[in-house]
Amino acid sequence: MLRVALRILPSLVLAMITVLLILVSVGRGDEVPSYPAVTKGWRAAQALLARMAQVYEVPPPALQIDRFGHYRDGVIYMRDATVDTDVMEAVLAHEFAHYLFRHKGLVPGNEIVADAKVVEILERSRGYSCGEAFRVQYRRLSGINRVNLQLQGHQSPCEELRIFLTGFPEFRDFVRVTGGERERPCWPAGW
Ligand SMILES: [Zn+2]
Repeated sequence: MLRVALRILPSLVLAMITVLLILVSVGRGDEVPSYPAVTKGWRAAQALLARMAQVYEVPPPALQIDRFGHYRDGVIYMRDATVDTDVMEAVLAHEFAHYLFRHKGLVPGNEIVADAKVVEILERSRGYSCGEAFRVQYRRLSGINRVNLQLQGHQSPCEELRIFLTGFPEFRDFVRVTGGERERPCWPAGW
């Protein structure tokens, strides 16, 4: 009797493991949104978000696509148009900052706190120097497309840029040099 049981047991265990693996892969499959198509940018965003969660020792938040980027109740939403741009990392870090601080609602004060945290998040999770991380965030906040937007819960894009820059006086020269270039439509007062 015991010998039979011992002979059956390994195959039973194997069958259970197989069933578990199938269940896990189906579960994972359900989390992949049907839209957008899994682009290089989408994969990069997911990988970077996982890395951020690892570095800050928090459970990774979910990532979904929406009409505009925002954070709510443990879920980070990004515009699909943002995912494949050169500012994706800064957008993701901004939303991740909301997640870290457990921000609720669309409040201008929260946006300032999240913007200021972006540089540190990119340094730690992406391995950028402070200057490299600053430039990605600077590019995001000064972007031509952003300046014409009045985002819900935000101050004007120029005001957000100005407040962000006050935290990084060491990059004043860089900002002044690029002042006339296309990517910087706002000239913050005092700069
Ligand atoms: Zn925000």
